[in-house]
Amino acid sequence: MRLQAVSSNQAWSNKSSQNGRKTYLETLYPAWGQQFVIDEVLFEAQTEHQHLVIFNNAQWGSVMALDGVIQTTEKDEFVYHEMMVHVPLLAHGHAKSVLIIGGGDGGILREVLKHSALEHVTQVEIDQQVIDLCREHLPNHSAGAYDHPKAHIVIGDGVEFVTKTTQKFDIIISDSTDPMGPGEVLFTSRFYQGIQRCLNSGGVFVAQNGVSFLQTTEVTTTHKRLSPLFKEASFYSAAVPTYVGGIMMFAWATDDMALKNVDLATLQARFTQAEIKTRFYTPLLHQACFALPQYIMEALK
Ligand code: SAM
Repeated sequence: MRLQAVSSNQAWSNKSSQNGRKTYLETLYPAWGQQFVIDEVLFEAQTEHQHLVIFNNAQWGSVMALDGVIQTTEKDEFVYHEMMVHVPLLAHGHAKSVLIIGGGDGGILREVLKHSALEHVTQVEIDQQVIDLCREHLPNHSAGAYDHPKAHIVIGDGVEFVTKTTQKFDIIISDSTDPMGPGEVLFTSRFYQGIQRCLNSGGVFVAQNGVSFLQTTEVTTTHKRLSPLFKEASFYSAAVPTYVGGIMMFAWATDDMALKNVDLATLQARFTQAEIKTRFYTPLLHQACFALPQYIMEALK
C-alpha cells in the first residue's frame, strides 16, 4: 500500500516555527499543549489510518506522534512500557499467553518477551506503517522483538480481533492511541465485551487510559463500561513525562480480586526469578501504583 506522501509545503496543523526554529505542537488539548523543537523530521506521512510523524528532538531523542498526539519518545518510553507490562505479568505470576492490541512502536512487545516463561504473544496492530517506520526510526523500541519466534503479529482492527478470535489469553494489554480516530473503538463496551470473551479465567486486562487530571472522563467512562463485565475494574498509575498533565492511568480489569493485592515478598520473588532488568518498575512501586488520588476516587464513586 503506497503511503500518501505529504508535500513538504503542506502545512501541518502541528508545525510552526519559533524564532526561526521549526517546532511541533501537540494538539491533544485545544487550549494547551507541549511543544518540541524539531531538529530533523525523520518521516512524515498520512498512512491509511492516521497522520504519522517521527522527528528528532534534543531533549527526547526520536519522537513519534499520531494525529497530533505524542505517542512515544526514545528517552521516556521505558516508564510506560515497563508499567504496562510488568505490573499485570508479575501480578499474575504464571501467564503463558499475552495479547497486545495496538503497540505498533514495539515497546510493549519488547518488554513482554522478557518474560521467558511465556509460550506465545499475539499483537494486533491496525497500521503496518507504524510498525515498519518505528522499526526503522525507533529501533530501540522493538529491539528485535518483531523477529522473536514467540511473537505473532496480526495487522487488523483490535475490536474485530477480540470479538471474533477463538484464542484465549492470560494477559491482554491495550496499548492504543487516544479515543479518537482508529483508537476510538478500543474504548467501547463492544471492545471490552470482546476482551471479556477472550480472557482466560484468572486473567487480567490492562489498557492505557489517559492522563487523569485532563482526561478524567476517559477514566470514569472506562470504569462505567468495564464494571458490569469484570468483578474488579480499577486503575493504576505512573507519571510518564511526555504524557503531559500529570499521572497516566492504566485500566485494570479482572475477575480475580487477589491479583491487585499480591504481597511484596511474592512480587519480589517473581521479579528476581524473571531476571528482568528494568529502569522504572520495582516491586515496591508495583504495590504503590494502585493507590489513586482522592479526585479520582471521588470521580469513580
Ligand atoms: N503509548 C502510546 C500512548 O499511550 O498513547 C500508544 C502507542 S502505540 C503507537 C498506539 C498504537 O495503536 C498505534 O500503533 C496505532 O496504529 C494503534 N491503533 C489505533 N487504533 C487501533 C485499532 N483499532 N486496532 C489496533 N491498533 C490500533
